[in-house]
Amino acid sequence: MASNPKWAGIGAKFAHLTAVHPCFGVKAHYKVARIHLPVAPRCNIQCNYCIRKIDKCEHRPGVAACILNPKGAVRRLEAEIKSNPDLKVVGIAGPGDSLENPATFETLAIVKKRWPGLIQCLSTNGLLAEEKADELRKLGVRTVTVTINAIDPKVGAKIYDWVRYKNNVYRGEEAARLLIEKQLRGIEALTEGGIVVKINTVLIPSINMEEIPKIAEEAAKRGASLMNIIPLIPIHKFSKLEGPSCGELEMSRAAAERYIPQFRLCKQCRADACGVPGLEGRKTRSTEYFHG
Ligand code: SF4
Ligand code: SF4
Repeated sequence: MASNPKWAGIGAKFAHLTAVHPCFGVKAHYKVARIHLPVAPRCNIQCNYCIRKIDKCEHRPGVAACILNPKGAVRRLEAEIKSNPDLKVVGIAGPGDSLENPATFETLAIVKKRWPGLIQCLSTNGLLAEEKADELRKLGVRTVTVTINAIDPKVGAKIYDWVRYKNNVYRGEEAARLLIEKQLRGIEALTEGGIVVKINTVLIPSINMEEIPKIAEEAAKRGASLMNIIPLIPIHKFSKLEGPSCGELEMSRAAAERYIPQFRLCKQCRADACGVPGLEGRKTRSTEYFHG
């Protein structure tokens, strides 16, 4: 991560994580292990680039070999801790939206009690981040990744098919506006509670390239610490779109870096990934699962 005097203060917010979280520090990325516990199958929005799937072979976000209940997840974690002294981070990364699934909170509560030394982390689309921020803080969650793909609702409407909030389903610009407002307020609520926030953005060159600096600026203003721009994997409704070239990806990261530090090593992991990301990538290392 190159350094920029503009965000010196931002770097200080996650300096304590760079040595212990593989997705916040370059060295840690090649040394420290994380595990994703796949306890969150449901989602409250539909991104046009997402197909959630139960599968043992496909290596991308939204995929897990099975869904675990909290008890099964804890048994999976227990086994991994015994065999992996490098494990420092336990995360919930779907395969749906972590905050939409009560199993996320049940699992985190058990993990906090049994292994208080582990860093608890999760990823979300941010729709529920504002209202769940306090609960996450009480559960000891230290890092949250919020995926934001647009600031302009007109652009967001091209990326999100629908958003379901409080039993109402929204579409088009109305859906995108609601989601974006919730995401930005969610970042504020999380960071005010002392949680370190990383932004994920899926770069879809024909749709949201110009949004990237705006996302970086708005997220940094609200307290986010780090941004992770990842290339589109062209599936579902975006199967005919092209992912970015290396040049487009780097150009976007350079534009965003004016506002917020960039993480450039993401492996776009599975929802049940386990191991050191820099060494084992997005795969899961173990195919053995524990149903509680
Ligand atoms: S928020 Fe995540 S799980 Fe939900 S549709 Fe989008 S990419 Fe898929
Ligand atoms: S998806 Fe990226 S940020 Fe998340 S664990 Fe994998 S490497 Fe880290």
